[in-house]
Amino acid sequence: MSERVDAIVIGAGVVGLAVARGLSQSGKEVIIVEADKAIGMGTSSRNSEVIHAGIYYPKDSLKARLCVTGKNMLYDFCDSHGVPYKKLGKLIVATSPDQVENLKAIQKKAADNGVDDLVWLKKEEVQKREPELACVAALLSPSTGIIDTHAYMLALQGDAEEDGAMLALNSPVLAGQVTDNGIYLNVGGDMPMEIEAKIVVNAAGLDAIDLARKIKGLDDKFIPTAYFCKGNYFSLGRKAPFSHLIYPVPQKAGLGVHLTLDMGAQARFGPDVEWLENGNNIDYAVDEKRGDLFYDAIRQYWPGLKDGDLNADYAGVRPKIQAPGEDARDFMIQGPADHGILGFINLFGIESPGLTASLAIADEVIRKLETT
Ligand SMILES: Cc1cc2nc3c(=O)[nH]c(=O)nc-3n(C[C@H](O)[C@H](O)[C@H](O)COP(=O)(O)OP(=O)(O)OC[C@H]3O[C@@H](n4cnc5c(N)ncnc54)[C@H](O)[C@@H]3O)c2cc1C
Repeated sequence: MSERVDAIVIGAGVVGLAVARGLSQSGKEVIIVEADKAIGMGTSSRNSEVIHAGIYYPKDSLKARLCVTGKNMLYDFCDSHGVPYKKLGKLIVATSPDQVENLKAIQKKAADNGVDDLVWLKKEEVQKREPELACVAALLSPSTGIIDTHAYMLALQGDAEEDGAMLALNSPVLAGQVTDNGIYLNVGGDMPMEIEAKIVVNAAGLDAIDLARKIKGLDDKFIPTAYFCKGNYFSLGRKAPFSHLIYPVPQKAGLGVHLTLDMGAQARFGPDVEWLENGNNIDYAVDEKRGDLFYDAIRQYWPGLKDGDLNADYAGVRPKIQAPGEDARDFMIQGPADHGILGFINLFGIESPGLTASLAIADEVIRKLETT
């Protein structure tokens, strides 16, 4: 079967669905092709479900800009679509006097990014709010929250379908070719098809780089090297004594072993940082042995954690575009102005805060398509 549509979005994760919604709302005929049997089975189901405030990212980076804008858009979207969320607030804690300077630097970075609602709390003020938390000072981020990600994705899908978008599940894109009329894609799976579209958005998450290499006509020099960094979670086997999300001062490749709560108030810790050799046949099982490191890290801010409290839970994998030890790179939203192919967008390195930023990423994609 051979078809022609205005736009194809590859991948029905949170970002692909947000982009598909934006394109269909702008009047385009859209097909979303998803390799898996349901939406959001990739990284979008394997994260902390936190609506981030936009605190840590370098000034003027896409991560900073799209997180801050996306956060506000996301809260509005949740309100207008009945998507469950809780604005619990988060505490970033300095557990020793030498970390107080780091905390001050975080407050400044946040202000540079337009996040000006952080509240500095002295030890006594923290302990009034969270009696079991050990720290010398903390920053409270009141605009940080948690979201029911699956309900959010269903709402995005609903909006897109209302405007005529079609979702094809079990439909992996196998290869593609840039043509005079747009981009031609070869889709496998249950209903193999060949489709051509003027607009193709590669939102394939962990596979986006591998897939880009299969599109003939895109020069390899535009495709970054893919790296994969697993983040393991451990859940708490009893009720959490905390009502805020609790974060230590961040580490290099992640935000440190932090405590988040889900919509059912279940506490979990993580994700940690485990670089993988490659992205083939990812094993999402969590090794119980990693728990030892979790106990040590958590007890820095919660000495009340007891032996046996933690259970290996789930894991997600960050699609990185920098090697272990290198400085964190920004989201790479690559459009015609970058690679010269009309109507083609690649989304590379969409790690955290991709969920928070998803609606703003969609707007950015559409802007890049419209300005070329
Ligand atoms: C451990 C962890 C914690 C995180 N925590 C947070 C957080 O608290 N807050 C936050 O804002 N962000 C967080 N993130 C980031 C966020 O989860 C991601 O940025 C976001 O889910 C990415 O969505 P996506 O749609 O780009 O990718 P995905 O959800 O991975 O979707 C990609 C889709 O493409 C499909 N696909 C792949 N190849 C093909 C193909 N060839 N053809 C068709 N379909 C294909 C896949 O099946 C998948 O469904 C976290 C990430 C990780 C790893």
